[in-house]
Amino acid sequence: MSPVRIYSTLTGREDELVPLHPDGVLRMYVCGMTPKFHPHVGHARLFVAMDVIRRYLVWRGFKLKYVQNFTDVDDKIIQRAASENRDSQATANAYIDSYFEVMDRLNVQRADDYPTVTTYMRPIVEFIGDLVEVGHAYPSELGDVWFDVGSFRDYGKLSRRDLNSQLVAARKELEPGKRDPRDFALWKRAKPGEPAWESPWGPGRPGWHIECSAMVRETLGDQIDIHGGGADLIFPHHENEIAQSESLTGKAPFARHWAHAGLVTLAGGDKMAHSAENFTTLAMILERYDPQEVRYFLLATHYRSSLTFALETDGLDGAWRVRGIEDARSALGRLRRALGDEPLSADGPVDQDAVKAFTTAMDADFNTPDALGVIFDLAREINTGRVAGQETDPKRRALVQLLDVLGLNLRAEVARNHQEVGPYVDLLVEVRRKLRDAKQWSLADEIRNALTDLGVTVNDGPGGTSTWSIER
Ligand SMILES: [Zn+2]
Repeated sequence: MSPVRIYSTLTGREDELVPLHPDGVLRMYVCGMTPKFHPHVGHARLFVAMDVIRRYLVWRGFKLKYVQNFTDVDDKIIQRAASENRDSQATANAYIDSYFEVMDRLNVQRADDYPTVTTYMRPIVEFIGDLVEVGHAYPSELGDVWFDVGSFRDYGKLSRRDLNSQLVAARKELEPGKRDPRDFALWKRAKPGEPAWESPWGPGRPGWHIECSAMVRETLGDQIDIHGGGADLIFPHHENEIAQSESLTGKAPFARHWAHAGLVTLAGGDKMAHSAENFTTLAMILERYDPQEVRYFLLATHYRSSLTFALETDGLDGAWRVRGIEDARSALGRLRRALGDEPLSADGPVDQDAVKAFTTAMDADFNTPDALGVIFDLAREINTGRVAGQETDPKRRALVQLLDVLGLNLRAEVARNHQEVGPYVDLLVEVRRKLRDAKQWSLADEIRNALTDLGVTVNDGPGGTSTWSIER
């Protein structure tokens, strides 16, 4: 089989994936969320993209360990906690819960480990102490510790910044105790009223960048195969992770493949702008759209491309919608029809042409738009075959399998909401019965088909009665 190729920001090209470690287990680390509020569409974009990379590699037969952190101490969390009248840990924990709630609905698999800053304080402090000891970091008299950027010759290799542009970017007043404008904080001395931990340099808390270097080392080792994150983290966060880790371990590369998800830009009218924070929380989006529609919408764009999330209001009723998600709805309806209601055993031949075409698309840096194209070709073949009375089971098995690799679960959400939707389905089924009594056959069929698309099967019994069930 052809190799999997992953684009790496570090090399600027697609590189073949070969496990770094002799045990063959791929080590994958993704910079997670800072839980300062509910997760938003940018988070969905990033974590769905990383979830697909992981699912695909496991499907391809790789063993993989996936770690994703939570930055549960941060200036913005502290600010938010103050406005919410609770301590910063309570605020962080509440939004971590919120993260799991929406990511579970989006069918994002859970990581093997979720390190947090507060539970990794010991390895973080040790990492800083070791950097000071080998001469790559220095404490100030005030109680801060700075990383000495000038001591790491490869600084800038990820973001391809030269020394001058680094200086321009850092041209601001030198903070007290800092020797070079490019140096960054590993440890920040405690400010009054803020959470603080003990350290050899006095009470304080870690800078943002050091946590990931320490957590990667602690959970996955000195070198990892894949490091993921949003493209906005390339500089300075990931550049600084490389500097910290490679300075301490002397092993390069710290991460072989740097997989960066493109950014989400928000488009919308002025009306939207002031309430953008709420409109782009996933909880809000998922009130209006099925999670599988949102997931499909995200996968229809390659993970490295930027994605526009356009909010529109309907002139008539003022209701808002997301441009493009309606397309996702009808696309998923087509796939559901192709999956069909006929029973399908998991055992049996699987259409290998489709699997091969899908693999070719995904091997090329996880090209989900092309992979979806393969899936729609397959769905079309199933529908044509069904009309012609041909055996479609091998193709349907392939469809089930490939949708699963992309984490598209076309039945689960309806089932999850069974109790909530029950009364509405009852109502529609009753309306349909009346239409049939009135011999309005085509309208009645329309309702039945629309329900089928949503995963609801209506079974007509004797005497005009009907029962319904939700497909799993
Ligand atoms: Zn990080």
